[in-house]
Amino acid sequence: MPRTTPSNAKLLEIADRIPTPFHLYDAEGIRANAKRLREAFAWDPGFREYFAVKATPTPAIINLLKREGCGVDCASYTELKLAERCGLSGEFIMFSSNMTPAAEYKLARELGAIINLDDVTHVDFLRDCAGVPEDICLRFNPGGDFMLGNAVMGSPGEAKFGMTRPQLDEAVSALKQCGAKRFALHSFLASNTTDDTYYPTMARTLFRTAMELSDSHGVEFFMINLSGGIGIPYKPDAREADIAWIGEAVRNVYDEIIKPSGMRVSIATELGRYMTGPYGWLVSRAIHKKEIHKNYIGLDACAADLMRPAMYGAYHHITIPGKENLPPDHLYDVVGSLCENNDKFAIDRPLPRVDIGDLVVLHDTGAHGRSMGYNYNGKLRSAEVMIEGDGSFRMIRRAETMEDYFATTAGFE
Ligand SMILES: *Cc1c(COP(=O)(O)O)cnc(C)c1O
Repeated sequence: MPRTTPSNAKLLEIADRIPTPFHLYDAEGIRANAKRLREAFAWDPGFREYFAVKATPTPAIINLLKREGCGVDCASYTELKLAERCGLSGEFIMFSSNMTPAAEYKLARELGAIINLDDVTHVDFLRDCAGVPEDICLRFNPGGDFMLGNAVMGSPGEAKFGMTRPQLDEAVSALKQCGAKRFALHSFLASNTTDDTYYPTMARTLFRTAMELSDSHGVEFFMINLSGGIGIPYKPDAREADIAWIGEAVRNVYDEIIKPSGMRVSIATELGRYMTGPYGWLVSRAIHKKEIHKNYIGLDACAADLMRPAMYGAYHHITIPGKENLPPDHLYDVVGSLCENNDKFAIDRPLPRVDIGDLVVLHDTGAHGRSMGYNYNGKLRSAEVMIEGDGSFRMIRRAETMEDYFATTAGFE
């Protein structure tokens, strides 16, 4: 049910009107997915998804998710401003930042955002620059390795985020002194995981820790924030997270640990990738073919449009519209034009024969795609297009222009 790539005719129609490369998003797919998440946690009347803005900081997408009841998770001044301009404030904004500048705390306080304190030293820092709010969240880093069964899913001990267990006690005491009344607890221990036990396992740790802190300090907890990290199947044969199962499993842990306390604690999530990743495509065109020691397909897109493959060898599925039924009997490196040899969307990828002028579609680029874009080699970031369920489409961000590029520079005179 989840993602359906727009039809070839539709892709050709859009590419006829809007020059490639561009990022394309499926509005209906994002809505249906947001609904699935909402239903999975419908047992908690206070449940809220705070869409991780960094995944797709595009107003049309944030507004779409806002209409589905989502808030946002911001981590910088600009992201907070973006949230504000999308009409979000108060408890609809989580501010989960680290090494936070004073100006960002100030703005977060002005907007009434829920601040997620990354470190115990930030209690004084926040008090001095913006004041401590009555409701505040703490980010927990349990250290060591985070295991699910026998598998290491992440290494919090190596992560710069969050505070240690003893520091949580210190922070709660200090925050109480500064006037904090209600607390929340947050952790992010594994990224892009499709192991459905991730949330319930972390929820157990967070629920227990919140109960301990509540007992020792006599404070109330209003929220447990399970953060992001639910993964998506980038490879065609990878399994998909079962969000309904995950919601039920978290509920069972909630009923076991939180419910007996009688405390009204809401569940929050800060999903990015899961919300939009599968509903985005980078649509590009083959402009060169090169046969040397290997065979290359050169696209009009490059790593400046989609950095994940260059940055960490991430797999993005590739299709050639109109050639789905041809055998993948050619082996290509699919590359962009940057003067960097890591500008490869795929290495040794079996594909049908690609010809110059073919559309080349990179899948699952709806999160951490365009947002990681940059201007290396003077490359201009591409446009974003939204397609609706009825097939209509519109540009929701134009491509960058030369004027944008030169707008920040001086010294030509
Ligand atoms: C990046 C990030 C997220 C979103 O992560 P996904 O892997 O996209 O779900 C959520 N919360 C915080 C604090 C983050 O830094």
